[in-house]
Amino acid sequence: MLTNEYVKRVYDQVQKRDGDQPEFLQAVYEVLDTLQPVIAKHPEYEANGVLERLVEPERVVKFRVAWVDDAGKVQVNRGYRVQFNSAIGPYKGGLRFHPTVNEGVIKFLGFEQILKNSLTTLPMGGGKGGSDFDPKGKSDAEVMRFCQAFMTELSRHIGQFTDVPAGDINVGAREIGYLFGQYKRIRDEYSGVLTGKGLEFGGSLARTEATGYGLCYYTAEALRVLKNDSFEGKTVVISGSGNVAIFATEKAQELGAKVVTASDSNGYVYDPDGIKLDIVKDIKLGHRGRIKEYAERVPGAEYHEGCSGVWTVPCDIALPCATQNEIDEASAEALVKNGCKVVCEGANMPSTPEAIAVYQKNGLLYGPAKAANAGGVAVSGLEMSQNSYRLSWTFEETDAKLKSIMESIVAESLAAAKEYGEEGDLMVGANIAGFVKVANAMVAQGIL
Ligand code: GLU
Repeated sequence: MLTNEYVKRVYDQVQKRDGDQPEFLQAVYEVLDTLQPVIAKHPEYEANGVLERLVEPERVVKFRVAWVDDAGKVQVNRGYRVQFNSAIGPYKGGLRFHPTVNEGVIKFLGFEQILKNSLTTLPMGGGKGGSDFDPKGKSDAEVMRFCQAFMTELSRHIGQFTDVPAGDINVGAREIGYLFGQYKRIRDEYSGVLTGKGLEFGGSLARTEATGYGLCYYTAEALRVLKNDSFEGKTVVISGSGNVAIFATEKAQELGAKVVTASDSNGYVYDPDGIKLDIVKDIKLGHRGRIKEYAERVPGAEYHEGCSGVWTVPCDIALPCATQNEIDEASAEALVKNGCKVVCEGANMPSTPEAIAVYQKNGLLYGPAKAANAGGVAVSGLEMSQNSYRLSWTFEETDAKLKSIMESIVAESLAAAKEYGEEGDLMVGANIAGFVKVANAMVAQGIL
């Protein structure tokens, strides 16, 4: 509950301005709520208007993307880039192509990215972009033409020292390749302007695996420190079947857990013997198929229509890796009822505030997205470093750096939580630790 006068005033202002952006309001409320003890202890933040500035993007770019489909028909989509905060580095954050994308969704993602990027300890500000373009059912050539049209406009607003986009939902290696090619064509510049690039043209080893692996490194470290426990022998429920879910499954299995589910926007599969990842990879990465195919190919596996049912599968650990607000109060209750003790978030803001309240009431170990899924952008930061050096590190070297970043995020979060009397609370700790660095940089750089 907001009790601090300054925090309340700032939130009221956001509500007045952005009342029609529910996801953005949700993300801002959660952060402001947990920052109250910091604000009370540091009057310089109010004196410098840090919160008012933090909740207002430095710039929102909104543009038309016109392209021609395979039938020769002109299609128009809307593109966005929200350059939210550049206090600690160039804007950094992914691009999402999905029909649910609108300004409020991109703003919530950009806002989360400010604190997430700060937690990685790498010099990256917060940004996010995307389009309401739906790549589902589109040909390769259509996706290429869309990406080229999108970048034709976006290229005016980004640059290796100003704003460095990457992937997010539906923007993977194929899309980044087309986007990079078009940037190079337009600007005649070969730079690290995007991350998540192919290995042949400046990409980093371990970037593809980074979000999923990072999620498991974070979860393993939190389990070790807070519960003296590990993944060994645990049953894990994972939602999604994209890049994050696939590599979270791979690492959880490597760490000794049994992952029993995978899902997409149509439904989920339950495999009591443990998900066979080569089959999921073949379906999703091989031919962009639907997860239903898994149950047709694997004897003993079941397919269920609808995605929320995945949270009724008994487990010890749940790793939501699909999309925002995928776990509501009822799903959280179902998880608890069926034995779940740990929820760590691979997707961005996958739990509603009511779901988080259920985790807290029942004493679950809860690893919030901006900390638990920071591995993706962390290795993006490492890709930027490698591009600047004009060299590339080995997989082992990059993966070791990722692991140590994720472990330090757990340590930093716990230290911040302890300092403000919320010992063991990874959510409060992540928000505070991420915020303080950005806030101090904003104060030091003056009002701008
Ligand atoms: N889209 C990812 C995220 O939500 C990665 C962003 C990046 O690598 O810039 O953090």
